[in-house]
Amino acid sequence: LMKGGMSLEQIINLLYDDMDTEDDSLVEEYEILEEKEIKYSCDCSAERFQKGIMTLGKDELKHIFEEEKEIEAQCQFCGKKYKFTEKDFEDILKK
Ligand SMILES: [Zn+2]
Repeated sequence: LMKGGMSLEQIINLLYDDMDTEDDSLVEEYEILEEKEIKYSCDCSAERFQKGIMTLGKDELKHIFEEEKEIEAQCQFCGKKYKFTEKDFEDILKK
């Protein structure tokens, strides 16, 4: 409905119209408390993925970079892709 351009209030009214009960007292009146803009966003970051990959541990990372030039991670929520190279893990690999 939102995609079709209906406002939230129109949608609410539609839902209320749909609640066709014989006893009107069963349907509570609604009150708009606050209006907020909603948006789809993801707070993923390269840093977060890097930390996640680090949990694989030094040995596993070394092993991966022996075979791959880079590690690619994709956020399963927003689809954003992040690429990491051995350089990104220099600190942990040197230890
Ligand atoms: Zn994301």
